[in-house]
Amino acid sequence: MKPVSRRTFLKDAGIIVAGMGLSTTLVPQIAHGLEEMSTGRAPILWLQGQSCSGCSVSFLNSSNPGPADLLTRYLSLYFHQTLSAATGVSANDALATAIDKGGYILVVEGAIPLGIPEACMINNESFYELFQRAASKAKAVVAVGACASFGGIPAAPPNVTGATSVQGALKKAGMNPPVINLPGCPTHPDWTVGNLVHVLKVGIPELDQHARPKRTYGRLLHDQCQFFAQYQAKEFAQHPGDQGCQFKLGCQGVVTHSDCSLRGWNGGVNWCVRSRSVCVGCARPEFARDRDYSFYRFNDTEHGA
Ligand code: SF4
Ligand code: SF4
Repeated sequence: MKPVSRRTFLKDAGIIVAGMGLSTTLVPQIAHGLEEMSTGRAPILWLQGQSCSGCSVSFLNSSNPGPADLLTRYLSLYFHQTLSAATGVSANDALATAIDKGGYILVVEGAIPLGIPEACMINNESFYELFQRAASKAKAVVAVGACASFGGIPAAPPNVTGATSVQGALKKAGMNPPVINLPGCPTHPDWTVGNLVHVLKVGIPELDQHARPKRTYGRLLHDQCQFFAQYQAKEFAQHPGDQGCQFKLGCQGVVTHSDCSLRGWNGGVNWCVRSRSVCVGCARPEFARDRDYSFYRFNDTEHGA
């Protein structure tokens, strides 16, 4: 692989620091961390439970650093059901070796079926058992996506498998490692990459009451929305596909904490509301589990609209 220049480390570090909203004084530290990671390569064990793999796909959509850099230069993915080159017995061996060694950051994508453990099996072992073995040797556990963070779509009523979040499963197992929740459906690649680098090289970021990093999820999407002025003027889009404030069409930006409206998706090209959709609140703890969505639709008095 081509040697990486100091300039490249500083450039990537600058992008990560800006994307995370961190102090620029951390650029040298993050650059140094990236340099270390490029030689030692940071150990990540990524397990997928009840998931659609969408957060892995989103992770590969990272633009700064890009997927090739992430996988070959900075991160050592000990094991990943979708991305590992190994298959069959060699994949199982790689997983066993990684867990024996320990000391990795455990990334979990997807919920954990505690009601019917057999609903998600890996190599003849329930995902719940594998998860406990892997978490017991992890430095920290990062829950990527709505399903791992809060149960998400697998935990939607009637939740026949007993789909449970990472924190819920750890609680049941009587385990208490540091946990960082990065909800989203999927999680934005910047949220995953930035916070993983932070955990690896700076430490656990400051978290809110839902174990979400405050810098990523600390502000109400609605307050930073480009259509906020229209909301205040009560000029609402009336039909699906109309441009403008989507409040009357059920936008959950009014109760969702994320930075989508500032950051944008697909390299900052667009985001849900700008593309004339509502925000469905995929970063909310209650995503896909609210029984009564009518609360958010046409509720004029609640938000004074
Ligand atoms: S209701 Fe939705 S579209 Fe309207 S300002 Fe708030 S976040 Fe933006
Ligand atoms: S705008 Fe809302 S629905 Fe779209 S990705 Fe962000 S939090 Fe999820």
